[in-house]
Amino acid sequence: MKNIKNYNLEELKDELRKMEEKPYRAEQIFKWLYEEKVESFDEMTNLPLTLREKLKAHYQICHFHILKKQESKDGTIKYLFDLLDGNAIETVLMRYHHGNSICVSSQVGCKMGCKFCASTGINFIRDLTSGEIIEQIVRVEQDIKERVSNVVFMGIGEPFDNYENVVKAIHLINDPKGLNIGARHISISTSGLIPKIYRLAEENIQCTLSISLHATNNEKRSSMMPINQTYPVEELLQACKDYIQKTNRRISFEYALAKDNNDNLEDAKELVKRLKGMLCHVNLIPINKIENGKFDKSSNENIIKFRDYLNEHGIVATIRRELGSDIDAACGQLRRKNLEK
Ligand code: SAH
Repeated sequence: MKNIKNYNLEELKDELRKMEEKPYRAEQIFKWLYEEKVESFDEMTNLPLTLREKLKAHYQICHFHILKKQESKDGTIKYLFDLLDGNAIETVLMRYHHGNSICVSSQVGCKMGCKFCASTGINFIRDLTSGEIIEQIVRVEQDIKERVSNVVFMGIGEPFDNYENVVKAIHLINDPKGLNIGARHISISTSGLIPKIYRLAEENIQCTLSISLHATNNEKRSSMMPINQTYPVEELLQACKDYIQKTNRRISFEYALAKDNNDNLEDAKELVKRLKGMLCHVNLIPINKIENGKFDKSSNENIIKFRDYLNEHGIVATIRRELGSDIDAACGQLRRKNLEK
């Protein structure tokens, strides 16, 4: 059966027309799905019974079951959701002063194989549909009974490896009749699939692009991220420059600091050289050590030195707060543990 959350408003209107129903019903259905967050067509009480029966015959409402929920002392909540086919994904809610931020998954597993990431070693299973991406937000808002104000595509998966569904989900997240979250409050993070950076530049979406850079020379970056062998640093940064020129939007570079690997002053110098003059921001992430991982977290002292060096040399850099470290909130950790059981 088709998941009704996979349709945008126009598509749902078309579906209704095909069923010889009035297209304005689509707006009523959207209200039930995204405002009321109902789980069944029977709850859509302003729809005629005959329409509800037709909907039931053709569609299902994707509604995740919470397999596990871990709550951190700092308010971070990590969910393990049961997809309807028996697979599981993770979604994390982070609470900031400026509002609730949600980190969504885009795939079941990941093909990228980054050496420091907990999703490595878990086979890629499939892409999430746009409806499954949306449902992560709907389900969390329903659970906490609060609105989410920011969405980041930093959960399991490579969003640009599931480009169409991610972009479709963004439009629905953005739609005032959908989840009504401003595009400026949505970030996509990529390991650097260059053709999709060029494609996003053409989309006219005001979201933030984050690039997982982590190292500035090809040898080091390839040793951390195999995707660098296909899309090397110089070409990646050129794509970023072209993106900025085309969109006039600032890019955020993520840089996970690993002890004695990419965290010394030489690395900081190289990073400054590479990013000089770009409209960008660097987000330094203290690396979250994964089980059997070969990368250790940098010392706080080194992290601060690294940040200060960047700031003193004209590159705006901040250190990402570590939220939820007591609940394995780094990508893929909860799902991995669940699979290993
Ligand atoms: N595939 C996308 C999005 C998922 S990961 C990407 O690569 O950008 C979100 C961010 O967390 C990425 O910058 C990723 O490199 C980083 N990350 C993954 N595992 C990490 C770990 N163990 N410690 C610190 N950052 C990590």
